[in-house]
Amino acid sequence: MDHRVSAQWARIRARMRGEFGETAFQSWLKPLICKDFQDGIVHLSVPTRFMKNWIETQYGGRLLELWRAENPSVTGMEIVHAGERDQASSSRPVPEAPAPDSKAQSDASISAPLDPRFRFDNFIVGKPNELAFAAARRVAEADNVPFNPLFLFGGVGLGKTHLMHAIASHIRQSSPEKRILYLSAEKFMYQFIRALRYKDTMAFKEQFRSVDVLMIDDVQFIAGKENTQEEFFHTFNALVDQNRQVVISADKSPAELEGIEDRMKSRLGWGLVAEIHSTTYELRLGILQSKAEQMRADIPAKVLEFLAHKITSNVRELEGALNRLVAYANLVGRSITLETTQEVLHDLLRANDRRVTIEEIQKRVAEHFNVRLSEMHSARRSRSIARPRQIAMYLSKQLTARSLPEIGRKFGGRDHTTVMHAVKKVDELKQQDGSFAEDVELLRRMLEG
Ligand code: ADP
Ligand code: MG
Repeated sequence: MDHRVSAQWARIRARMRGEFGETAFQSWLKPLICKDFQDGIVHLSVPTRFMKNWIETQYGGRLLELWRAENPSVTGMEIVHAGERDQASSSRPVPEAPAPDSKAQSDASISAPLDPRFRFDNFIVGKPNELAFAAARRVAEADNVPFNPLFLFGGVGLGKTHLMHAIASHIRQSSPEKRILYLSAEKFMYQFIRALRYKDTMAFKEQFRSVDVLMIDDVQFIAGKENTQEEFFHTFNALVDQNRQVVISADKSPAELEGIEDRMKSRLGWGLVAEIHSTTYELRLGILQSKAEQMRADIPAKVLEFLAHKITSNVRELEGALNRLVAYANLVGRSITLETTQEVLHDLLRANDRRVTIEEIQKRVAEHFNVRLSEMHSARRSRSIARPRQIAMYLSKQLTARSLPEIGRKFGGRDHTTVMHAVKKVDELKQQDGSFAEDVELLRRMLEG
């Protein structure tokens, strides 16, 4: 093609990108290829018939205007899709290069990158995660959709994202023609809001509904976001109806997800729901041994056992501890002993020593004041109930690493300002009333001890 025409096309694309926004550009305009310019007609091509129709109706008028402005000898424009191209080009020279698979490219651009470290072969399997692991493998290896959706859930740092990436990488390798879309629910929401803003929800829908495998990580993030949920629900249904694989992860089971519509919850539970339970000592030790081996770090068995005993929170912290230990040993050039371990990791070890959960706090406080545990979540406000509840909120703030909104949620979905108020109130009362302060201190010591 004439280089002047190429340059004109480049400027037109830049204009369109500015006018219609990045999402529209990525979905519709970027895949558009300018083939040639003959007898006043610009010939463009796109991968699918659907895209051709959409571009013609939505962007055709503006495209032609821009062509005319760039090049007065343009009289018309013709868009063909890949299926047509073979017939259309028979009388003309063969196009220079085959059109790149623009569709797959635009999927790739909204799909989050896969972490190559998250594979099946380095995922350590134990009782707590064996079901989730087996289900993930099955989905990755199956020719037909074995269950839909696969719903993986469990606490933070227990391997949900690892398994999801492993599924995606496996399918990408074994079936490169399949379109896989992996992204966090947050990113899904962000994309959707963008599409709304640029009035481009058609492109959004097309992008999501044309994939073979849709994977949404941390779906709890769309709790309370009604429009996003609605859109996700439709996308989800469309894909499941077409027998495309959907994989979802969340921090809770479908039934326990808060702020998600009931019909959505029930739909999410239709396939296979697999929980990843908290780690056991055996699993932690297995993970430590395997990671130490991978890092080629010479760590005494005693130290690994010590860590597996002490760091019980989650796998991410376990990895963090190991990395720090190895980095320290390399830096200082000393071998790792139990003493160095305790020294280097003393903060981590202490944090893990007194890890109290909000549930334990609620239970202890309810027992102490002789109120029912359910009152911790109830809406009742009489002082005999509200006060213990406030104390439990206060202790949750003091003794756990949970944020105010997280604490609020655990107390019957209260607002974070309510928690803030409780903390302030209890502080005040402690100052004014010595026996009240003693009571709270006693509870604290019991919980810590
Ligand atoms: P989640 O998404 O559940 O919060 P991740 O998948 O991000 O947790 O896991 C946190 C870290 O722990 C990652 O580095 C992951 O590779 C590692 N990990 C978790 N479970 C295992 C396991 N069973 N075997 C090996 N590594 C694991
Ligand atoms: Mg994750």
